[in-house]
Amino acid sequence: MMSPHNMDVRTVLLDIEGTTTPIDFVYKVLFPYARAHARDFLASHLPSDKLQLVEPPAAADPDWSEDIKAQVAAFLRENSEDRQRGLEPPSLPQPPDPDSLVAYVFWLMDRDRKSTPLKWLQGKIWEDGYRMGELRGQVFADVPRAFERWRAEGKQICIFSSGSVLAQKILFENTEAGDLTPYIDAHFDTNIGAKIEPASYTRIADALGRDPAEILFVSDLATELDSARSAGMMTTLCVRPGNPPQPDGPHSRVRTFDEIPELAMGPQSAPSPTLKSRSNQWTIS
Ligand SMILES: [Mg+2]
Repeated sequence: MMSPHNMDVRTVLLDIEGTTTPIDFVYKVLFPYARAHARDFLASHLPSDKLQLVEPPAAADPDWSEDIKAQVAAFLRENSEDRQRGLEPPSLPQPPDPDSLVAYVFWLMDRDRKSTPLKWLQGKIWEDGYRMGELRGQVFADVPRAFERWRAEGKQICIFSSGSVLAQKILFENTEAGDLTPYIDAHFDTNIGAKIEPASYTRIADALGRDPAEILFVSDLATELDSARSAGMMTTLCVRPGNPPQPDGPHSRVRTFDEIPELAMGPQSAPSPTLKSRSNQWTIS
């Protein structure tokens, strides 16, 4: 089993579902919450069956109305593509009314479709839920202390998740351990590419101005780790309670971030004797 050589880790890139956060939180809390509130959300933001009459809600940003129009247009496009492929989705009149839209949204949710407008809608509903205090982001107990440790060591902490950047930010902003966003240097979602495409990891390294070899990617899915590894990143499999079993592979395995030992500063800096000796322990183990 190969362990990441911590002297070289400059950036820790983290998956969310099954890595920082229980999979159950996503499937048993977030997804049902979005489904339960989708109708009310759409009805209040599409108050009439005429899309042109959409009013921006008070206190929202001025782009809101254009934003929702763009997302509704994206739903219409996706619906027409589904139709052309013979998938028989619920039909959407143009302009769509909230009931037709919600029927199509449920149809997409039932298929766990990685649809950009669906991710946007879920993100907006969750944002409201967090702001009203009805939702609290869940992270494993070792996550906040690892963030603290990595920051003290001068590491960059970044997130790569299929959930939208907005959904990622509001989750980490509203956790039971407080606002963790100040620890996070960058967020990436599928706009940079799919998580099973090696090219996505190359693009992330480019965006961060890092050599992929300086980045440690931590995820619960071997397929994602394989892709990151193909792109030259170091990889660690995170085995959390409730995660689906993963095949054996070249990735080191941890059950908590506590097992990713303290990382020394990068090669250009002079690590303190304490950090150096800790790093040696890790290198030896
Ligand atoms: Mg995951």
